[in-house]
Amino acid sequence: MRDLAQIQRIEYDVIIIGGGINGAGVARDAALRGLKTILVEQNDFASGSSSWSSRLIHGGLRYLEYFEFPLVRESLKEREILLRIAPHLVAPLQLTIPVYRDRSRPYWQIWAGMMLYDLFSFDKTLPVHRMLPQAKFKQLFRTLEAENLVGGSQLID
Ligand SMILES: Cc1cc2nc3c(=O)[nH]c(=O)nc-3n(C[C@H](O)[C@H](O)[C@H](O)COP(=O)(O)OP(=O)(O)OC[C@H]3O[C@@H](n4cnc5c(N)ncnc54)[C@H](O)[C@@H]3O)c2cc1C
Repeated sequence: MRDLAQIQRIEYDVIIIGGGINGAGVARDAALRGLKTILVEQNDFASGSSSWSSRLIHGGLRYLEYFEFPLVRESLKEREILLRIAPHLVAPLQLTIPVYRDRSRPYWQIWAGMMLYDLFSFDKTLPVHRMLPQAKFKQLFRTLEAENLVGGSQLID
């Protein structure tokens, strides 16, 4: 609704400033609870950070690097909730991470990170990660650059 005069005449229970994903989510939740809700956006809906998102409902793997363990656990729990309540919108995605001797984190570090990630998501419904040694990785991804390749890791996030 863009009729400002009419907007001013209505009394709202909740006014949300910002129509990104968070504002939209809060507005949806408030409206579903029966609250008279208005969402105000200065540009266009989802024109801010939300327009950049790669749409991954990730479990926060990269937060492990900064020791933000509570955030990892929270992200993993949220992901499980979304998988359960919105299976029509959220689909598991297999990710493959190649590890190179000269430009990646060491293989053991990736492995340790994956173990920790699985530990934090002990109650998840998705499968655990798997590490792929060099020969197996090369066999699966024949076209990938092989020089200095140590192996890789696969996870479903
Ligand atoms: C490159 C990139 C990739 C990303 N990939 C992912 C991903 O894969 N998965 C993931 O979970 N997250 C991802 N993110 C992070 C995610 O995009 C943000 O966390 C999320 O979009 C933030 O949403 P928001 O609603 O808080 O903010 P925004 O989307 O920025 O919304 C805020 C809105 O408020 C409006 N606004 C501000 N001030 C006012 C005002 N005074 N009056 C009216 N309106 C106002 C702005 O115009 C804007 O539209 C990514 C981010 C980037 C940059």
